[in-house]
Amino acid sequence: MRVLSRHPVQAHPPSELPPLLLPGAQVVAPKAGLGKFAPGRRCAGRRVKCSNPPFARHPSAQLSYSARSRCDGFALATCCSVLNYTDSSPDCDSLPASVPLLLLLKMLSLKLPRPLSIDQMPQVFHEQGIIFGYRHPQSSATACLLSLFQMNNETLNIWTHLLPFWFFMWRFVTVLYVTDVQNDSYSWPLLVYMGTSCVYPFASSCAHTFSSMSKNARHICYFLDYGAVNLFSLGSAVAYSAYTFPDTLVCTTFHDYYVALAVLNTIISTGLSCYSRFLEIQKPRLCKMLRVLAFAYPYTWDSFPIFYRLFLFPGESAQNEASMYHQKHMAMTLLASFLYSAHLPERLAPGRFDYIGHSHQLFHVCVILATHMQMEAILLDKTLRKEWLLASSRPLSLLQITGAILLCIVFTLSNILYFSAALYRIPEPELHKKET
Ligand SMILES: [Zn+2]
Repeated sequence: MRVLSRHPVQAHPPSELPPLLLPGAQVVAPKAGLGKFAPGRRCAGRRVKCSNPPFARHPSAQLSYSARSRCDGFALATCCSVLNYTDSSPDCDSLPASVPLLLLLKMLSLKLPRPLSIDQMPQVFHEQGIIFGYRHPQSSATACLLSLFQMNNETLNIWTHLLPFWFFMWRFVTVLYVTDVQNDSYSWPLLVYMGTSCVYPFASSCAHTFSSMSKNARHICYFLDYGAVNLFSLGSAVAYSAYTFPDTLVCTTFHDYYVALAVLNTIISTGLSCYSRFLEIQKPRLCKMLRVLAFAYPYTWDSFPIFYRLFLFPGESAQNEASMYHQKHMAMTLLASFLYSAHLPERLAPGRFDYIGHSHQLFHVCVILATHMQMEAILLDKTLRKEWLLASSRPLSLLQITGAILLCIVFTLSNILYFSAALYRIPEPELHKKET
């Protein structure tokens, strides 16, 4: 491959850059301050700081900076064209090991439209404190998929849920493999919980991937994301009901209606969170409040038995190693909610965390860690309390479990269809007009 060539190659004048560089890449003369990085000058492996705004902050600047010390003409031309700088002189005879991979990603970037800044985007796509790195608001599905490998402000949002999806899938399949699904009714709630724990990171990564196809596609993607989060909330309630209830609450009226009310919560919560998107532009504060409420109140309902167990009366069988994981899960969830609602750190330094480290990425990481802790706690409770629970509790029947999940899916999808249809019914100026 030419990129890997250890031999000097012919210098390319700007108009004769290799074809791979050209789609979407403008090659222009460098701005003042780049010294000898002018068209036709030789590179000589110098380290030149990329100071041309807005690319000084762009991750490509880092690539260009590191590649310039040892690279061939093709690599250098690629870097320079990404950055709109021109210099293709082949002075260096070898590449650092990491550069080919980075260049591959950069070449892919060249096939995609360059990320946009906030003032080039319709208001519905704006994220607080994020200035640069937006994908085109009418990207094709292919461009959305390819954008997984292009550094933009959604890339890490996608990967922070896509990789955990495969991790949770692996855990789910491992448990499925060692379980006698037909006869082991004690394990059914665990399987439901582990199944729903795979659904929400997958739905979220899809939502973040395809949310730049259009304004309405963005809303529908997040409707599905909220639906999946609510399904997971019901999965958690099913597992809590089966394995984590404190001794004193087992077989009480509260226990009997706990899952039924969790189903009702998921329906209301999906409705509320979808509705909140219609207020995003007109009443942003109310929108945020409704959305946080939509997720906080089913979580609080689900966690009530855990609060009771940790802070009031756990009972003898519930005093086990799982309690520590329940505590960690709660702490991590609190941190996730704080990050989600506070928009920190990007609110304090707009533009500094566009690509890496903004609150939504941190929120994703905290949510995944919280789910991991929760899963550990449920697995421990299921094993350590098995004898006591089988003797003292009334387990959920297959009909109850499947009925709850199906009801949730049907009502959630109906909600999503209703709100998606509403997007097309409401005239666009009404939906996206800012209240004065
Ligand atoms: Zn997200």
